[in-house]
Amino acid sequence: MKRREFLKYSAAGITLPFWLQNCDFTDAKYPVHFHSDHHVGHLLFQAKEWKTIGARDTEVAIVGGGIAGLAAAYQLRKKDFQLFELSDQLGGTVSTADFNGIQISQGAHYDLAYPSNYGEEVIQLLNELNLIKYEPWRKAWSFKDEQHIIPSFRKQQCYDFGKRRKDVIPESALKEQFIELMLQFEGEMKMPTRLIDSRLHHLNKISFEEYLSSELPVTDEFIRQVDYHMYDDYGGSANMVSALAGIHYFACRPYYTEDVPLFSPPRGNQYFADALIAKIDTSKIHPSHLVMEIQRAGNGYLLKIVDVQNQQVKELKAEQVIYAGQKHALKYIYPDQADLFKHEYAPWMVVNLIGNQEKGDYGFWQNEYLGDNKQFLGFIDSSVQSQQGLNSNRVFTGYYCLRPSDREYLLTIEESKNRIAQETQGYINSMLNKDIDIEACFIKVMGHAMPIPAPSYLFQDANTSTKAKMIYAGVDNGRLPLLYEALDSGLQAAALV
Ligand SMILES: Cc1cc2nc3c(=O)[nH]c(=O)nc-3n(C[C@H](O)[C@H](O)[C@H](O)COP(=O)(O)OP(=O)(O)OC[C@H]3O[C@@H](n4cnc5c(N)ncnc54)[C@H](O)[C@@H]3O)c2cc1C
Repeated sequence: MKRREFLKYSAAGITLPFWLQNCDFTDAKYPVHFHSDHHVGHLLFQAKEWKTIGARDTEVAIVGGGIAGLAAAYQLRKKDFQLFELSDQLGGTVSTADFNGIQISQGAHYDLAYPSNYGEEVIQLLNELNLIKYEPWRKAWSFKDEQHIIPSFRKQQCYDFGKRRKDVIPESALKEQFIELMLQFEGEMKMPTRLIDSRLHHLNKISFEEYLSSELPVTDEFIRQVDYHMYDDYGGSANMVSALAGIHYFACRPYYTEDVPLFSPPRGNQYFADALIAKIDTSKIHPSHLVMEIQRAGNGYLLKIVDVQNQQVKELKAEQVIYAGQKHALKYIYPDQADLFKHEYAPWMVVNLIGNQEKGDYGFWQNEYLGDNKQFLGFIDSSVQSQQGLNSNRVFTGYYCLRPSDREYLLTIEESKNRIAQETQGYINSMLNKDIDIEACFIKVMGHAMPIPAPSYLFQDANTSTKAKMIYAGVDNGRLPLLYEALDSGLQAAALV
């Protein structure tokens, strides 16, 4: 941000995000790379002037190559389909950055074992992909690549205004009451959430904070700690998300009675995307292709697709469309049904700092941060992950969950990238209590990274309210923003073809 603009905003009393609160900083001494697909999204408007080339036909067009779109493509792999992804990479919120030929996670990082009450379709998919195995003694599915399971004593530490402890919510009588409350829902909080019994749907109508306040003698301090967890997985505070979403977070696995294996490959959940892509004919998958317009045409649809690299617009006729892109852009792409989706999205920024792995120096996988900067949630430390392919590098993946009202400032992140890299390094230094040497930094910004599961959001599946051949997939179709939900939404969409 230019000094002039900074002064203008400050004078107007506008609360600026942290990277704009001070315009004096020096450049980082290492390269800071920045990635956002915002400029590609904006081709929606610019490409209207570009040359258009003639129509091809396909049975199914899939919009979006995140986990949901890829799961749909996998399920339709023997059919005639074409998948279009606006980014130059596949994976959406699980995609990675490349550092000297190794993949560094820039988004979703982990999943946990699946109890046997989870939906069978995703289990079957992961089993077909040869990724999971059944463990009868715990009545759950765990991961075959055991080298990526994080040792439980290295799972997490929390840093709260400088004080270190194990958990975000410390032991107390109130926590015991809270656990007792959550235990009532064990076995009921299924995944995918569409399997949750309708007798519990009333919990989707009120906020988590409202629910907790009616059941427990909660304190502001307790809610602050719960808020941290809600931002971390859902992008909103306990008064922004539904009670059902909140309860699901704490009770969807037997966290209080068993040690639930946590699985985190160094490249994060791109691991799952790669397993899907490996089984799909990649000539049917088109990265750097933005679907900019969809129109009804006869019994099917006519799609206008921007070929970003060749600066052309291609037309495609499809009998059916699976729309697995974020739905906020429907108002430009397919305005007829934009009104089906009215929810809010949380923007996220992921800052990867690449340092050196010193022999014998191991940290904690998750480092949860509660402090003055509420947007910074902490970092993942690769030192406890399998180092295969990481050579001597130690990767710190810092997470910032931004407020929807900060979205307009995302455009200023690129010019503040040095400041953001240094700020993140400062947080990590203070949490590790030492200065880390950094070789490179990668910043990724996602403007509509995850739908916030506000009251009444869950279970609003647009596929039940439309009889047209437009089928919706993706976590922002009334699901929680989780890998399992994204996989299931893709499979369900494919089943409607
Ligand atoms: C920072 C972060 C960390 C997370 N961590 C975890 C985690 O550890 N574990 C977990 O279970 N979940 C996690 N999640 C949530 C999880 O990653 C997502 O909910 C899930 O991967 C979403 O998949 P999706 O396919 O529904 O959407 P997305 O990943 O958002 O994919 C949508 C895709 O559609 C593309 N697209 C959109 N419009 C168009 C268009 N017009 N034309 C072409 N392409 C288009 C987009 O570029 C994008 O690639 C995390 C999310 C974030 C943001």
